[in-house]
Amino acid sequence: MDIVVLLGDEYLLRPLLYEPLIELTGFTPLADQLYFPRLAFSTWLLLTLGAIVMYLITSTISYLIFFVWLRDKYYPETAEQPFPGQEKLEIQMALWSCPWIGVLTAPFVFLEVWGYSRLYENLSDYPLWYIPVQIILFIFFTDTGIYWIHRLEHDIPFLYKYVHKPHHIWKVPTPFAALAFHPVDGWLQSTPYHIAVFLFPVHKHVYLGLFVFVQLWTIMIHDGVDFSPFDFINGSAHHTHHHLRFVYNYGQFFTFWDRLCGTHLHPNDLPPLEKKRLEKQRQLAAEQAKSSAVASGEATTTAAAAAKKSN
Ligand SMILES: [Zn+2]
Ligand SMILES: [Zn+2]
Repeated sequence: MDIVVLLGDEYLLRPLLYEPLIELTGFTPLADQLYFPRLAFSTWLLLTLGAIVMYLITSTISYLIFFVWLRDKYYPETAEQPFPGQEKLEIQMALWSCPWIGVLTAPFVFLEVWGYSRLYENLSDYPLWYIPVQIILFIFFTDTGIYWIHRLEHDIPFLYKYVHKPHHIWKVPTPFAALAFHPVDGWLQSTPYHIAVFLFPVHKHVYLGLFVFVQLWTIMIHDGVDFSPFDFINGSAHHTHHHLRFVYNYGQFFTFWDRLCGTHLHPNDLPPLEKKRLEKQRQLAAEQAKSSAVASGEATTTAAAAAKKSN
C-alpha cells in the first residue's frame, strides 16, 4: 500500500494541494513527502478515496448486471428480495465507514513507508517460484484471520451488538453491502491483509493485485449470484446463507475452517432445525389435504345418496 500512497502523494496531492499550500502559507516543511502531518493526511485521504472509488465502480457494475440487466434471471419476483431502499442505506453506511477505516488503517501504511514491513520491490530479491507461494500464503493467512475475527464477532455478544450487527441488517445483500459495515468491523476484518506483509515477504505489485482481488471477491460474495461449482470455495451462495442464518459460513475464500469447526452449511442444504420445521410443515399440509379430501369425498357420497332418495 506504501507505493500507492507515495505515488498518489507525489503526482496527485503535491501539485494539487501541497505546492499551492506552501505558496500560500510559506510553510516549507510541507515540501517533504515524509513530513509526518503530510504523510498522515495523504495516507488517510488516498486510502479513503481509493476505497470509495473502487467500491462505487465495482459494486455499481455488479449491481447493474445482476440487479438490473439480468434481474429477471437472478432476482425474479418469486425470489427473496432486498428490502425497499436497501441499496441507498448500504451505500450511505459504506461512505460513512470508509473515512474511519482510513484513519484506523493508516498506522499500517506508516510502518510500511518507514520500512518495517516485509514488502519488497526488486523481483530478484526472492526466487520467482516464491511469487505463487506468497499468494497462497496470503490467501491462507487472511482466510484464517477473517474466519476467527468474524467468528468472534458473532460469539462475543458485545462485539456482535456494537460492531458486527450493522452488517447483518442486510438479509438479502446487494453488491453495495460489500463495504456496508460499522467502521470498526470493516477495519477488524481487513487487519489480516495488513498484518500479512509484516510476517512474510510479499512483492509490492503482487500485494496491490491481491488487494484488488480481495475487493472484487468481497463484492462477489455479496451479489447473491454463485458461479462456483465447488463447495470448498466460500462463494456467494455460502455467504448468502451467512446473511440469512448468521451462524454458518464465517469464512472468506474457503470453507476449510467452517468445515473444521462445524459451522459449514452447503448452499443447497438447510440447518437441521429449519429442515425439521419444513418437514413438519409439509407433513401438516399433507395431513390437511388428506382430511379435506376425505371430507369432500364424504360430502359427495351424502349428496349422491340424497339425490337418489329424492328421485
Ligand atoms: Zn457480508
Ligand atoms: Zn457475520
